[in-house]
Amino acid sequence: MTQDSAHQLLTRLREIVGADAVLEGTTALEPHVVDWRRRFRGDALCVVKPANRDQVSAVVIACTELGVPVLPQGGNTSMSGGSVPFDSAVAVPPVIINLSRMKTIRKVDAFNNSIEAEAGCLVADIQAAATAIDRLYPVSFGAEGSAQIGGSVATNAGGTAVLRYGNTRENVLGVEVVLPDGSIFDGMRTLRKDNSGYDLKQLFIGSEGTLGIVTAVALALHPLPTSRAVAWVAPKSVQSAVELLDLVKSRGGARLSAFEILNRTQMELILGTVSGIRHPLTQQPEWNLLIEFSDRCDDQILRDALEEILAQAHEIGLIEDAAIAASEAQCQAFWRIRHSASEGNTKSGMSLVFDAAVPVSKVPEFIERAGTQVSSQVDWARHAIVIHLGDGNIHFVIVFDRQRWERLENQAELMERLRAAVYDIVAELGGTWSAEHGIGRTLIKEMGRYKSPVELKVMRAIKSALDPQGLFNPGKLLPPA
Ligand code: FAD
Repeated sequence: MTQDSAHQLLTRLREIVGADAVLEGTTALEPHVVDWRRRFRGDALCVVKPANRDQVSAVVIACTELGVPVLPQGGNTSMSGGSVPFDSAVAVPPVIINLSRMKTIRKVDAFNNSIEAEAGCLVADIQAAATAIDRLYPVSFGAEGSAQIGGSVATNAGGTAVLRYGNTRENVLGVEVVLPDGSIFDGMRTLRKDNSGYDLKQLFIGSEGTLGIVTAVALALHPLPTSRAVAWVAPKSVQSAVELLDLVKSRGGARLSAFEILNRTQMELILGTVSGIRHPLTQQPEWNLLIEFSDRCDDQILRDALEEILAQAHEIGLIEDAAIAASEAQCQAFWRIRHSASEGNTKSGMSLVFDAAVPVSKVPEFIERAGTQVSSQVDWARHAIVIHLGDGNIHFVIVFDRQRWERLENQAELMERLRAAVYDIVAELGGTWSAEHGIGRTLIKEMGRYKSPVELKVMRAIKSALDPQGLFNPGKLLPPA
């Protein structure tokens, strides 16, 4: 791109969104071109912050007319490097279109159990707006205070409540999207039934900014639980935890809202690095399980129900120990442990994170095989494991001692070997190598290796139908043909 055409584009963008909403220069661009883990940095022509969907459309047209790539950006919390530019994938640096000014909640409908909001609202804003009318927006994850609702739709975020309420996808009723040709797809319907042809909104959920810019979403709400009971449990093994899940589901029914399991190493990394955390049990078990029940009834009713099930589990030998939180403060303390896993791992060393999912019944086999395989290749690293067991989603994290890691000469080669070893096991068990963090730029190779040629062919056909110039978030999600 010549200096003249860059200058021309910047002038046009300032006319569309206002001079204050076009950011340039190293300092202003820094928060937008480096990912939150500070692993990736890219170059951008500028960051543009439109105020409404018409401005988004005009910005897209201005960029695509000149063949300039476009990178949609929300809160920049992507776990897979999807939200920052990828220099080697483009000849011209992209214009980053950041949605943070688009924060209007358009409509909240209690009787229809729905909310319509612009893409730049934080996920936490949506949760708060739902709570204000005695409803729940159930998608919840560590970055909910920074991630935007548009970004969470574009990545189909999962989190801790998928077991009961599904992923973001299951909670999206409609979307409004600016397509790569600048046209606006208005699919903001709030219906539970609509069989009128292809369900186009599904294309954009999880598309990671490669097919269009989500400018607004319509979401389903649920009854707001007013009570909860949380237990910290020591199952005998992962297999026992799988059997306990079955028991808790059959006896607890729809009250079961979380079933999260952490291994001993994960607990040690949290306890050793995060302040103010105490183990809820007197003895450190090999496996730790957090179980939550929620409903609209008295807390004590829930605690009693959970206690009865755990007593039965103890009797039949599935668990060794358990503690039920006696107050809301204790519930929060138990959850704080669970939510401190990422912090504990980051503070403990250099880590390689696997976000895999296998059928729930295969989780024990995965743990056994992946652990053995990784230990045989590198015997000086630790394995921290957190599993959303209800969804078979395993965060298997290899944590390397930082000093030893830095002295290592073959870092990249070791990473590649470990990735192939673990992902081959995932594939053999009928699983996925990206359960909830998306593909971004980090898992492009795996897309090429494990997705079937037919799936890739269909994905590429969709991409080229909507974005024939390949300008939307280049280098992400799809491997080169
Ligand atoms: P960004 O990070 O800005 O963008 C992510 C991708 O979406 C990019 O490809 C971008 O181009 C695209 N995009 C963003 N906005 C739009 C838009 N409006 N239209 C089109 N494309 C867009 N995820 C889980 O699933 N489960 C978890 O438990 C979980 N825990 C997390 C914990 C932490 C501490 C962090 C930092 C992240 C976690 N995540 C988790 C990842 C999280 O789901 C995503 O980071 C988040 O949903 C992305 O939202 P964002 O607004 O930050 O989007």
